Amino acid sequence: MGSNSPVRAIVVVGAGLAALRGAEAMRRAGYSGSLTIVGAEPYSPYDRPPLSKHVLTGHISADAMTLPSSLDGDVDWRLGSPADYLDRAAQVVHLADGSALSYDRRLIATGTRARPWPNPHEAKLVGVYSLRGRDDAVALRAALVARPKRVLVIGGGLIGCEVASACRQLGLPVTLVQPGPAPLGRALGRYIGGIVGAMHAVRGVDLRLGAEVE
Ligand SMILES: Cc1cc2nc3c(=O)[nH]c(=O)nc-3n(C[C@H](O)[C@H](O)[C@H](O)COP(=O)(O)OP(=O)(O)OC[C@H]3O[C@@H](n4cnc5c(N)ncnc54)[C@H](O)[C@@H]3O)c2cc1C
Repeated sequence: MGSNSPVRAIVVVGAGLAALRGAEAMRRAGYSGSLTIVGAEPYSPYDRPPLSKHVLTGHISADAMTLPSSLDGDVDWRLGSPADYLDRAAQVVHLADGSALSYDRRLIATGTRARPWPNPHEAKLVGVYSLRGRDDAVALRAALVARPKRVLVIGGGLIGCEVASACRQLGLPVTLVQPGPAPLGRALGRYIGGIVGAMHAVRGVDLRLGAEVE
């Protein structure tokens, strides 16, 4: 279909922040045709930043983070089943539940995902968690509330540092392993990362820099 053809159906894949704001922008721009938003998770778009902060410390419940939206009821939400593949020639999005959605235009806003632990068997061991989505945060919060003897955080990026902080706020012993010379080094550089590392150390985080978990 050429770019000047009338647009009657838009499918947005990914029901996160970008998908929601993209869909709102389409409506604001005057698009009044069919609008479908497909999300792999069974939740309306929610805010992820609190997952590694207030949700872990218990100050906010994971189900209280639904993003405010200006979308009216005229949206077909397909939540809980991911888009599986795209037939670009036929202009159809196929979902994992077997359904198919035709579109004139599509927006792919599927975000990113946590890098999985390289050994899938080890990744499934009891007590091993990733943190990316709402369900992850609920599971990790439950594990922290059970007061483990020590928490090991692998990765000293933003999320790893925040989890280590949350553990200290909960009074839990925590070790943070970071391959580089400072936490947050890639995002903030060695100098600022060093300051963050010193703040962690003062608050009782056992920092292992220049170390990797094998
Ligand atoms: C724990 C955590 C803490 C964070 N803290 C901060 C912070 O303090 N400050 C900050 O600026 N940023 C923070 N971020 C980053 C911020 O949340 C992201 O930048 C933001 O979520 C990106 O939005 P997005 O819509 O592009 O992607 P996402 O939020 O990842 O949304 C993409 C959605 O697409 C869905 N999806 C994926 N594949 C498919 C498919 N095939 N079919 C259908 N749906 C699919 C996913 O389930 C997801 O819901 C944090 C992220 C995490 C995980």
